[in-house]
Amino acid sequence: MTDINSKSFKRYTVTSALPYANGPIHIGHLAGVYIPADIYVRFLRANRRDVLFIGGSDEHGVPITIRARKEGITPQQVVDKYHEIIKQSFIELGISFDIYSRTSAPIHHETASEFFRKLYDNNQFIEIVSEQYYDEEAKHFLADRYITGTCPRCGNERAYGDQCESCGSTLNATDLINPKSALSGNIPVMKETKHWFLPLDEYETWLKEWILVSHRDDWKTNVYGQCKSWLDSGLQPRAVTRDLDWGVNVPVEGAEGKVLYVWFDAPIGYISATRDWSSQTGKDWVPYWKSEDTKLVHFIGKDNIVFHCIIFPAMLKAEGTYILPDNVPANEFLNLEGDKISTSRNWAVWLHEYLVDFPGKQDVLRYTLAANAPETKDNDFTWKDFQTRNNSELLAIFGNFVNRTLVLTHKYFGGEVPAMGEVNDIDRQAMTEIIEYPARIAASIENYRFREALNEMMNLARLGNKYLTETEPWKNFASNPERVKTNLNISLQICANLSILCEPFLPFTSARLLEMLNASLEPWSEAGSCTLLQPGHKLNTPAFLFDRIEDEPIAAQVKRLTDTKAENAAENAVVTPQKPEITYDDFTKLDLRIATIVEAEKVAKTNKLLKLTLETGMDTRVVVSGIAEHYSPEQIIGQQVVLLANLAPRSLKGIESKGMILMAENDEGKLCFVSPSEAFGNGNEVR
Ligand SMILES: [Zn+2]
Repeated sequence: MTDINSKSFKRYTVTSALPYANGPIHIGHLAGVYIPADIYVRFLRANRRDVLFIGGSDEHGVPITIRARKEGITPQQVVDKYHEIIKQSFIELGISFDIYSRTSAPIHHETASEFFRKLYDNNQFIEIVSEQYYDEEAKHFLADRYITGTCPRCGNERAYGDQCESCGSTLNATDLINPKSALSGNIPVMKETKHWFLPLDEYETWLKEWILVSHRDDWKTNVYGQCKSWLDSGLQPRAVTRDLDWGVNVPVEGAEGKVLYVWFDAPIGYISATRDWSSQTGKDWVPYWKSEDTKLVHFIGKDNIVFHCIIFPAMLKAEGTYILPDNVPANEFLNLEGDKISTSRNWAVWLHEYLVDFPGKQDVLRYTLAANAPETKDNDFTWKDFQTRNNSELLAIFGNFVNRTLVLTHKYFGGEVPAMGEVNDIDRQAMTEIIEYPARIAASIENYRFREALNEMMNLARLGNKYLTETEPWKNFASNPERVKTNLNISLQICANLSILCEPFLPFTSARLLEMLNASLEPWSEAGSCTLLQPGHKLNTPAFLFDRIEDEPIAAQVKRLTDTKAENAAENAVVTPQKPEITYDDFTKLDLRIATIVEAEKVAKTNKLLKLTLETGMDTRVVVSGIAEHYSPEQIIGQQVVLLANLAPRSLKGIESKGMILMAENDEGKLCFVSPSEAFGNGNEVR
């Protein structure tokens, strides 16, 4: 366990992954990165640490240029739109950045450019000339995404130069059959182009020592494991530039039409955001990145581990004047209702929509996501769980305790904090426990175990409820008002402690609670005390901290997701190609009849088969049908069906089956009957 006071760090630089300004923020981003980061920095501030919390939008890269082309606007217009949405929604959720900057800002172009130039001047890059697809009409080298063609694996004619979305294969642009430029539609030609590479292989020995030895004990096992597997499989030189006209220009003569690769420019965005902060506040940015007594922590999702643990440190090492991250507490992924969150499939809960749908309930989302943070493995968000977390935890435990305490204080003592009198064993026990909470929660947060920390905070509210239940002040006021004074004093001290200890997790709740207590936020070091509120201190009128969330808004959210799923299924429906042509004579050979199921039973020792007895108008006969996984026998008695009557009989599990019932089947293999749209006579022909 690390102790915050035993280390010699003078200041903290805390970064959170720069969201890509190609779409809004969803709950997966929040649970993986921004909620944990915000808990951490709020905790540090409560401990009066010098901390700088960095955020910003990542605004370069090919996907943004593709979206711009699709929508007929400029890349700058794309990033302006999403930067604003993202920034606003973060502010409303209380993510307490000291600066939320962006990589299209001039200060970033300047910083990234200088960074590149220093490495270039110190001969830290290698130059490699290779052949790449080039569009002669558009006079442009083509990024993989700008080339389409036929997939060599599955024949899909609209595969991209990096991937076929039909069969999921990862491709190289040169794999495509009949490649075409997405810019002009022309056939691209191969042309030589020069790029600069960071020779990561030269940093392998150093990285192995730094990560695998020095950080064996303090980095999370998921992070350490991923790094180890990258390092064990050997590092290759990696291109830091590419041919594109959107990004930071390569500051070298003869590099026109080339920009810094987005993976190289984005992490430098943390540094330029710090400089942006410096120019706005007049404070010096240098110590936050260059003093050995600064603790640098990167909050990211697991898809970014290689960039923050291997590549960015190699860049910083190459530059030579920067500190390296002390920790990279990356999280796994959050799923939504059991499925992977997907921006393109719209399978997500979008933050800006949540804030509209659930006004004033920022802390409910913060709480649910912190409680479900995918710290050690992928985790799941469900709306049902969200409702339960609110109703059974925040409202029933935290809100209820605070409300009972404040209402009773107003009822018995006119809203003034009563003095503590003689204490008995129950009181003493409660006070002993209160003292322990701040250190316990702190230890969990310092070790990046935010779920555990949150649960400990709630345990203090649980302690409050238990204390009220054991002492029952509402029963004792008439007979023993002195006892009640002590009980409510201690309960109020727990409320005051909660206002400090819940603040990193639930800042809006903390502020409302402080308003009711008529108090201001005290530092973490004051928590644990039972003298936070002085006798005679006047409280404000109590209000509810949390409202019950009814079934209706939850059902509306679930319906939205169900609708999305149906839309996606319709869009992605795979239609089997038509079969070879047949003649009319071929068709007339089929004897199709209306029939009615009169008896049905499962065929023993099979999962799929039902034995059906049919009235066909011509006879009563038995047909064995593979529908048992879709229909129960009792469900289908009386069902009218279409029967292929003249199919040669065959024996299934020892039962002779005479004919076949027509069924429709969807993409997921679900079966349903094909039947006349109104009741028809058995034996009527279908033709
Ligand atoms: Zn394919």
